[in-house]
Amino acid sequence: MTDLTPSELRKLTDKLTHRRGEVAAMIRAGAASAGHDSLRRMGGEVGDLGDESTALQQTDLNLAEMEGEVRELRAIDQALERIKEGTYGHCADCGCPIPYARLDAYPTAERCTPCQTRHEQVYGGRDVTPSL
Ligand SMILES: [Zn+2]
Repeated sequence: MTDLTPSELRKLTDKLTHRRGEVAAMIRAGAASAGHDSLRRMGGEVGDLGDESTALQQTDLNLAEMEGEVRELRAIDQALERIKEGTYGHCADCGCPIPYARLDAYPTAERCTPCQTRHEQVYGGRDVTPSL
């Protein structure tokens, strides 16, 4: 059973699909600029150690940013997968329907607000996606 109307579900699917395109573009852009950096370094530009560590820090920063984007992309894919399976919009913990207003604000939400709050208390404020 689903508690979202077909038009609500379609709106959320559109939102997720659109956001997926944006995030994928950011990841591509990030990967391109990271690739460009390492290409330039390999291209024989020899700096002193200071330059090198600045360059590495910059790469770390890009990677950290990209990691967030990759995580979001994965969350979007999982949400789209749940839509396909027909489990979308139901709390992963208690199985109750997640209110449309919450899904509209967070289309990748996996839990209802009380369960999410409890989850964040247990896992220290981060939405931990099971890695297995
Ligand atoms: Zn719940």
